Amino acid sequence: MTLTMTGVRLTYPDGERRLTALDDVSLTVAPGEIVAVTGPSGSGKSSLLAVAGTLVTADAGTVEVDGVDVSGLDQKRRDRLRRERIGFVFQQANLLASLTAVDQLLLVAHVAGTSRDTARERATELLDYVGLSAKRGKRPHELSGGERQRVAVARSLMGSPAVLLVDEPTSALDAERGRAVVGLLRDITRDRKTATILVTHDPRHLGLTDRALVMRDGRLGAQDPAAVG
Ligand code: ADP
Ligand code: MG
Repeated sequence: MTLTMTGVRLTYPDGERRLTALDDVSLTVAPGEIVAVTGPSGSGKSSLLAVAGTLVTADAGTVEVDGVDVSGLDQKRRDRLRRERIGFVFQQANLLASLTAVDQLLLVAHVAGTSRDTARERATELLDYVGLSAKRGKRPHELSGGERQRVAVARSLMGSPAVLLVDEPTSALDAERGRAVVGLLRDITRDRKTATILVTHDPRHLGLTDRALVMRDGRLGAQDPAAVG
């Protein structure tokens, strides 16, 4: 599905004034396309994902998921859209310490009300897809950082998302594992036709994506081609 953001403006309260986190941001991501967003800390990258993922409502502008304006949906429909059609992967894998890899995925399915058999089948398939079949019974402390992030990626796919929003997934990983995770995200984008936004600070990842944009002071622009590694 296509993700379209048009004229998005987001401000946060900042004492007596408002801080502008997103300033007239427009972006379209097609199905099967992975777009990188770079930019300095505090420039608004995470805010962009929060609005794209309907976690935060913009002050102005629209967010459309496959042509549906999410601001026109009531809270319940928006929550369902987010749960079923939008996948998130954050900097930290945010796994629960007491659960095995497969149970991390089953928990999401349980919350979504998916039947247990369907969920098991899907969790098994996804762990296989991210190359972790052999680790399905391992808890987070028994997994490497890269493996934990792969579990988080598999978990984000449990609802078969149309939109995948990924925030600096490799900052806790070494270069090689980081590249592998970004390569996996690109494969997922291609195979599952997700509209993917990848926030990354690593210029070496830009060559793995279809396009690279840069965020500066809440404004989204084209990446300087010289910076693409
Ligand atoms: P980035 O991800 O590029 O580091 P963020 O989107 O997190 O940038 O932040 C953009 C700006 O908005 C920063 O100045 C940050 O301090 C501010 N900000 C982010 N989240 C909040 C919030 N929940 N409340 C107030 N200000 C925020
Ligand atoms: Mg951020």
